[in-house]
Amino acid sequence: MAMNIKRPNGTEDVLPKDVYKWHTIEKIARETAESFGFSEIRIPTFESTNLFLRSVGETTDVVQKEMYTVKAKETEFTLRPEGTAGTIRAMLQNGLLNEALPQKVYYMLSCFRHERPQAGRLREFHQFGIEMAGSAAPSADAEVIMLAKTLLDRLGLKNIELHINSIGCPSCRAKYHEALRAFFEPHKEELCDTCKERLVKNPMRILDCKSPICKEIGKDAPVILDYLCDECSEHFEKFQKYLSKFGIKFIVDPKIVRGLDYYTKSVFEFITTEIGAQGTVCAGGRYDGLIEQLGGQHTPALGFAMGFERLLLVMDKQGCDYLTPKKCDIYFATMGDAALEKAMELVKGLREYGYCAEYDLMGRGIKAQMKYANKIGAVYTMVLGDNELNDGKARLKEMESGEEKEMILNEKFTANFENEYFNKILDVMDDENGSMFAFAGEDK
Ligand code: ATP
Ligand code: MG
Repeated sequence: MAMNIKRPNGTEDVLPKDVYKWHTIEKIARETAESFGFSEIRIPTFESTNLFLRSVGETTDVVQKEMYTVKAKETEFTLRPEGTAGTIRAMLQNGLLNEALPQKVYYMLSCFRHERPQAGRLREFHQFGIEMAGSAAPSADAEVIMLAKTLLDRLGLKNIELHINSIGCPSCRAKYHEALRAFFEPHKEELCDTCKERLVKNPMRILDCKSPICKEIGKDAPVILDYLCDECSEHFEKFQKYLSKFGIKFIVDPKIVRGLDYYTKSVFEFITTEIGAQGTVCAGGRYDGLIEQLGGQHTPALGFAMGFERLLLVMDKQGCDYLTPKKCDIYFATMGDAALEKAMELVKGLREYGYCAEYDLMGRGIKAQMKYANKIGAVYTMVLGDNELNDGKARLKEMESGEEKEMILNEKFTANFENEYFNKILDVMDDENGSMFAFAGEDK
């Protein structure tokens, strides 16, 4: 009977043949974050719904339309739509903010949003993100951008523009909201239904609307930068100065207002035009009021998140390099029980040295075993049968060149194999690089 259960819309399977791409991002992201002094945090997949209502904000699309909320035995939970709220909740609950500041954490997690699935927009997607809590200084804003930029560069991404803006603090924003309301009021009837509501509750969000009509109307809307108070203005100036100092190019883009309510002052997006409409690969900003809003002491903070799936779309498109997936280093083709047992003994030693070693688990004949070794791309193979066991020797075959070498099946087998492997790598490098591998001080 054919299976008729399919994965839910907007979710993806990552198959073994592609997972090395994920490993590449995970490894480089981890190394980059740690080189900036960030440590990993892991948080639950679901939280009290209230956490997101109070942080992400009740007027946002995420809260109004996109949350997966489940009721389990009278208690309501929501699958996290993003990582910041849970991370800050965890920092507060575990007293991290009483320790040395700034607290710097990174995470890699899945997020859940009930959106219309399309390229680069899923219902379950994955983020790498960082949060830094405790610093109000504009140098922290620049540092966070530096981290994102370093990571994007190390992944090999090109043509990604950094757009920055400041959306001020609650005091400058109040004046700006008034100006926006006055601007949009005459066009009220033309706005989409969501924006009609935004006009009352949170007019700045109209600028983030994807509807072409709302976009067109918003083209000449007042710009927040003209409404910043002295402190926010100075913060934004310094932020830009530090970015320039780091040699990071940016575009001041007053249309960046961010989809979540908790942002203040600096907000930013890294955008590419190469993967269609969902071109924001990384987004973030400062959220100085959030920690207090969640019941902590006033603690300025900031962060960003990158979507794995969108990064992969761009990396594939641009032909970026991925880490090479691990292949079978040596496959033992066996004939008979005694040979099988010998193979089991040999793979044990090799695996302890870190090699990927395999042998027949299907009870196949030799020919079929060699075919399998070829399919999985084994670097070496070795046939073991009665003759080999009796002689205590077998031939190690390098699959690519077809070259064979006799090896003794004793306790030194693993060490000898390692020599063989190492020599092969040196040979290849020697061919490619000439004398590059001569040791220091040695005559070339
Ligand atoms: P967008 O404007 O694209 O909807 P957003 O403002 O909702 O983005 P954030 O909440 O800031 O996005 O999330 C940070 C990053 O996570 C985005 O820049 C994007 O790379 C990724 N992301 C967000 N939503 C999705 C999704 N539904 N599917 C895949 N990736 C997503
Ligand atoms: Mg969104």
